[in-house]
Amino acid sequence: MKIIDGKEISNQIKQEIKIEVDGIISNGNRPPHLAAVIVGEDGASLTYVGSKVRSCKQVGFESTLIKLPSSITEDKLIDQINLLNTNNEIDGFIVQLPLPKHINEENILMSIDPNKDVDGFHPTNFGKMALNMETFIPATPFGIMELLRRYDIETSGKHTVVIGRSHIVGRPISILMNSKGKAGDSTVTVVHSKTLNLESYTKNADIIVSALGIPEFVKSNMVKDGVVIIDVGITRVKDESAIKGYVIKGDVDFESVKSKASFITPVPGGVGPMTIAMLLKNTLLSRKISN
Ligand code: NAD
Repeated sequence: MKIIDGKEISNQIKQEIKIEVDGIISNGNRPPHLAAVIVGEDGASLTYVGSKVRSCKQVGFESTLIKLPSSITEDKLIDQINLLNTNNEIDGFIVQLPLPKHINEENILMSIDPNKDVDGFHPTNFGKMALNMETFIPATPFGIMELLRRYDIETSGKHTVVIGRSHIVGRPISILMNSKGKAGDSTVTVVHSKTLNLESYTKNADIIVSALGIPEFVKSNMVKDGVVIIDVGITRVKDESAIKGYVIKGDVDFESVKSKASFITPVPGGVGPMTIAMLLKNTLLSRKISN
């Protein structure tokens, strides 16, 4: 069993990005600039956005954090997005999800200029991804592809089972792994909350990508020997003995599954750190295109 070290790979990627940024600056150009919009005070969202902004510093990007009250109207939020869309000093921005209930996420998504949509959630970018065109690939699936590539994990002709069909993880990773190319060419089955007899699929999987958000859902008896496990799940589980009052759990029962797996991502330290690195990579791409 080999642990897929997302922290190490994400640090490598950040170093590679830093070298490119140094090159951009030494050529007399401004560094890439990422902005993040956060609405409200959700603890997990603030943590995610905070580490995105800190990572910008590490690689030499400029960053702007725009904090808005949870009472903001949808129209006012769209006004803010339009300012970012037209600001030539900003290469890309994200709107941290989830948004308060009174704001329609789809309307917000549609108001983002696809050329600055470094999350890759806009239908234009999602469509390009599905057609194998160069675009911003959603950061989490992009990170998974990069882990598979850098660990040289064979995916061609393998059977991959993706658990979950969300727009940000399950659906895009199923498209990417099924597309032509390295880390692709896989035969992909997507299972979800309405799938009957889910285990009959996972037991036959060479690779399992789990993105459902139920802690320790995937148990040892659901997988075959030699399986590659990519655990995307991040759930805060209450734990009075932990300093923060909670621990982070993945979708996979790591202790029971690891002895059967050929490769496995830990939680934390697997897919999570890759998400931020790939968001930075998308922002760098946007800077290069606008140059
Ligand atoms: P989501 O809630 O949008 O979707 C969950 C999916 O799981 C749905 O498609 C649903 O059909 C499926 N599902 C739910 N219960 C199921 C069951 N019993 N059996 C089979 N399928 C079931 O989730 P999401 O946004 O894709 O996130 C999934 C998990 O990944 C969460 O824990 C989230 O925190 C985590 N996540 C991690 C990262 C990262 O950077 N590592 C990024 C995004 C999401």
